[in-house]
Amino acid sequence: MAKITPMMQQYFEIKENYKHCLLFFRLGDFYEMFFEDALIASKELEITLTGKDWGQEERAPMCGVPFHSADGYIARLVEKGYKVAICEQVEDPKLAKGIVKRDVVRVITPGTVLDNAVLDERKNNYILAVYSSQAGYGIAACDVSTGEFQTTEFMSIQAANKILDEIARFSPAEVICNEAFLNNPLAKEIQGKFNYYFNDIDSRMFDFATAKNTILKHFHVQTLDGFGLNKKLAAVAAAGGLLWYLLETQKNNLDHISTVKYYTTGDFMLLDVSSRRNLELTETMREKNRKGSLLWVLDKTQTAMGARLLRKWVEQPLLSAKEIQKRLDGVEELYTDLFLREEIKDILRSMYDFERIMSRVIFQSANARDLWALKNSIENLPQLKHILTRCKSPYLMELCQKLDSLENIHSLIEQAIVEDPPFSVREGGMIKQGFHAELDTYTQAKEKGTTWIQQMEDEEREKTGIKNLKIRYNKVFGYYIEITKSNIKDAPLHYIRKQTLANCERYITPELNQLAEVILGSEEKIVTVEYQIFTEIRNAVAAEVERIQYCAYIVSVVDALQSFAEVAQSMNYVKPVVDEGDIISVTAGRHPVVEKMIQGQFIPNDIYLDKEETRLAIITGPNMAGKSTYMRQTALIVLMAQIGCFVPAQAAHIGIVDRIFTRVGASDDLSAGQSTFMVEMSEVANILNNATEKSLLILDEIGRGTSTFDGLSIAWAVLEYIADEKQIGAKTLFATHYHELSELEGKLSGVKNYCIAVQEMGEDIIFLRKIKRGGADHSYGVQVAKLAGLPPKVIRRSGQILKQLNAADITKKAKKIAVEAQEQAEEAAKQIDMFSIKENQMIDELSKLDVMAMTPIEALQTLFELQKKA
Ligand code: ADP
Repeated sequence: MAKITPMMQQYFEIKENYKHCLLFFRLGDFYEMFFEDALIASKELEITLTGKDWGQEERAPMCGVPFHSADGYIARLVEKGYKVAICEQVEDPKLAKGIVKRDVVRVITPGTVLDNAVLDERKNNYILAVYSSQAGYGIAACDVSTGEFQTTEFMSIQAANKILDEIARFSPAEVICNEAFLNNPLAKEIQGKFNYYFNDIDSRMFDFATAKNTILKHFHVQTLDGFGLNKKLAAVAAAGGLLWYLLETQKNNLDHISTVKYYTTGDFMLLDVSSRRNLELTETMREKNRKGSLLWVLDKTQTAMGARLLRKWVEQPLLSAKEIQKRLDGVEELYTDLFLREEIKDILRSMYDFERIMSRVIFQSANARDLWALKNSIENLPQLKHILTRCKSPYLMELCQKLDSLENIHSLIEQAIVEDPPFSVREGGMIKQGFHAELDTYTQAKEKGTTWIQQMEDEEREKTGIKNLKIRYNKVFGYYIEITKSNIKDAPLHYIRKQTLANCERYITPELNQLAEVILGSEEKIVTVEYQIFTEIRNAVAAEVERIQYCAYIVSVVDALQSFAEVAQSMNYVKPVVDEGDIISVTAGRHPVVEKMIQGQFIPNDIYLDKEETRLAIITGPNMAGKSTYMRQTALIVLMAQIGCFVPAQAAHIGIVDRIFTRVGASDDLSAGQSTFMVEMSEVANILNNATEKSLLILDEIGRGTSTFDGLSIAWAVLEYIADEKQIGAKTLFATHYHELSELEGKLSGVKNYCIAVQEMGEDIIFLRKIKRGGADHSYGVQVAKLAGLPPKVIRRSGQILKQLNAADITKKAKKIAVEAQEQAEEAAKQIDMFSIKENQMIDELSKLDVMAMTPIEALQTLFELQKKA
């Protein structure tokens, strides 16, 4: 076999370590890709596939992109889920002996990308690590673009659901895991549900000792105690494994990841995957749009940092009344004091995303414009602090006190960097005059040289008598004298001809060369010195990363609070009373999203649920009456109260709930290969297994996915189980088509019937959208179908069929079952009573016997009699 070219040998050696990446191999001004990588990239990027000799018969498939426009191409590949390894020349080609050394300087993956073109500025971009062992799971999540890093663990092998819930909450761009997890069925489920591909990274990096070491080394500490990670083996494994992966791919110091936070899911309201989806917290269920979600209504933030925090709040409702109250009071102050809010908004509006600018500073990819944007963003911090001193609510007072105005960083940048600096950091023009003495001497030399050139031009014009003689500059020739064709005859003899063009000649002279040297020499110096100064300033800013990040956090909290206040005012919300009690009572509540969509025609409804009489509300009413809307509105109002937001109602009293479960309609999980009914039942199973008496359950049409009797029976049994305090006893809204279930009121404690009223108008119905006590007795299905525009012939025929079916009424059967069930239950209760009476009597008699005084015959006789009684 022929020999492979040295360059290709180098390529293969490097590619060997980056098998899962597309390798961008730097050759001169291009990044080239070869073989399989080239085939993929040429297709995905729609660029030409060519070939390169590599010492073999067939050429190697190759494609490439210019290095100066590579960012856009990389962004596109990463967005499609690929990982890109950037391989640079790591020595000066001029100094290289043989082939230039090359190495991978960074790997860009969906979870570690920093490019603004890929990142959504109003959303965190998480990478997640899952670690599993015999004992349980660890999870760690990091947003490399902001430095946020957190971890937790679930020490039970049954905690698989929790992992799914956390993945749904973070919705990460990338997931990595240890090998053991790859073999876990959960890994498959996650892949099916979320479309993630796991990296098989070296599992040893998740070993506790290695992982712990990675953490200790990164944070420069001796023990894990300060992070609350003591004895948290799985959390440490996940966090250490993730950190290792990040350091390995980013090949940077990652100083902006300045701490790791241990959190427990017990601090927050639990929301499982399908409830998050059903409640459309951050996107709509079908189109996945932000418009139409709760976030769309609530997000009136002015900064990207605030938007990201608000999103996190929405996804993580609180459980502590104290914490909730703190936010609510803050919102109230900003709601009441419009002037205060407007002033704060004005300041926030001037702030760029300086949290993400800091990640570019740490990665040394921030340019002078970024620093200038940072300066502009922190410029008004003293003013913000000053405004906040007026606040009286504890949270805002605390934020004010903690806000650092970063004046020294501001003045450093202001003194050093010019306004509106250039994009490139390698061409000078960034540093202000007067900031650096050495730089100033070069600048002066350059300016002097430029004036001299000007003078020389005047002098040469005079000497030669050529009026349009010009001294010009270009990158290839440097400075030259240009004379048009018609004047060439007057050019002095000592002019040295350099280039002939169609209509002019270009010359140089020794004096001009001398001058040019001074100018170009000082220009070169300026560029070098400016770059040096710039990096020093950038490093100085980088050293302050923790202070700046903390500031970004405070700003984002202020922004999120003002956003809540703003929405509360514009949408006419009210401050809820939140406590740890068991009452959920809302007067004239509205659905925050639907009311915004239909502008002004929303009909409010009351809600009352408690622990005693009205624990479970069975809601009937025709299709389209508004059942789902009413139930979701209840869930959303509770959730909004628990994130510290005002709520769409006239008054609201919310007893904190630990979880909201929803089972609404058929979720689109069919991709995972399950039937609608299976999905429905497994969601119901999840609810029945995990709900507590502190939970809020929203159940819409349980049992719809199967035949009427099956469905009715399942719905009935589920309802009994939930209503039973010994089993669950959760607060529940239960919408159903099975009017038969209304029979349960009065038979099961805590169950009440409600229906959404409609009014009959001849053959038609009008939706009143008002909830009232009592069950509905009609489905009005045919009328609703008419509204939907079914042909009159079909409507008439279905009316006829309905009449016939009503004759063989299944309701009667169900009523009979209910009565029978009731009788059976009463009979069983009686029997239990009888049994216990007898049992007590016997125990009584037994205890009265004096066994020691009895003969064996007497004892036998007594036993015999007792047996007869039983
Ligand atoms: P159901 O679950 O009973 O079939 P929905 O809750 O889906 O009905 O409501 C049907 C439509 O009625 C919704 O699209 C919504 O626009 C409208 N609607 C529901 N509740 C109200 C209300 N309280 N005020 C105004 N319109 C409402």
